[in-house]
Amino acid sequence: MDILYPLQCISCNQKVDSAHSFCQKCWSKVEFIGKPCCEKCSIPLPVDYLGRRCYKCVSHPPKFDVCISVFRYDDFTKKLIHDFKFNDKTGYAKSFAHMMYNQSGQLLEQADVVIPVPMHKTRVQRRKYNHATLIARNISKLSGVKLEVDALIKLRPSVNQMGLNRLERARNLLGAFSVSDDSLIRNKSIVLVDDVLTTGATASECAKTLKQFGAKKIIVLTAARTY
Ligand SMILES: [Zn+2]
Ligand SMILES: [Zn+2]
Repeated sequence: MDILYPLQCISCNQKVDSAHSFCQKCWSKVEFIGKPCCEKCSIPLPVDYLGRRCYKCVSHPPKFDVCISVFRYDDFTKKLIHDFKFNDKTGYAKSFAHMMYNQSGQLLEQADVVIPVPMHKTRVQRRKYNHATLIARNISKLSGVKLEVDALIKLRPSVNQMGLNRLERARNLLGAFSVSDDSLIRNKSIVLVDDVLTTGATASECAKTLKQFGAKKIIVLTAARTY
């Protein structure tokens, strides 16, 4: 379908040369995550930082093995994510997936299953779709890694994490997730997909649950992350 339409910047609709990309002007406004960064959560580190992991991953290591994110969640990208989630710009799923796939390098080659961070079913009904599933579906298509939409489930809606401290977030999410059928994930390397990583509490709780049910490795993949 891409050939039939002129290629457009995913943010401002300006003509561009390649699909699922930003125009030069928008590109310069996006803060892409590069090295040096934490080997576990990919938060950028100061050039003179001693050590391969950030302070947080050393003091309170998340339960996932590694997290890869493409760009910083700031005022500019916040708008894109907001339009994607709340203004029906579902086409962004494909663009985000392309960038996430490219950013993940060879990590996806070792993966067995792609799983979206689940939403509670009452929330999916209200929003019409789980935005993480839309991205995960595209990651699966690009990588050839099998998609399992319902392997990880959200048992209850959690209150908004905003404004909660680390302990409150952990408590808010405790026991919020479960696995529908452990044969889908046992001994498998899993790509856990979401749109944004903020504190990492949600991704960590999902990873903890998946590992409790026998998953071998959790690779978290998000379009944006805060720092
Ligand atoms: Zn643009
Ligand atoms: Zn880290």
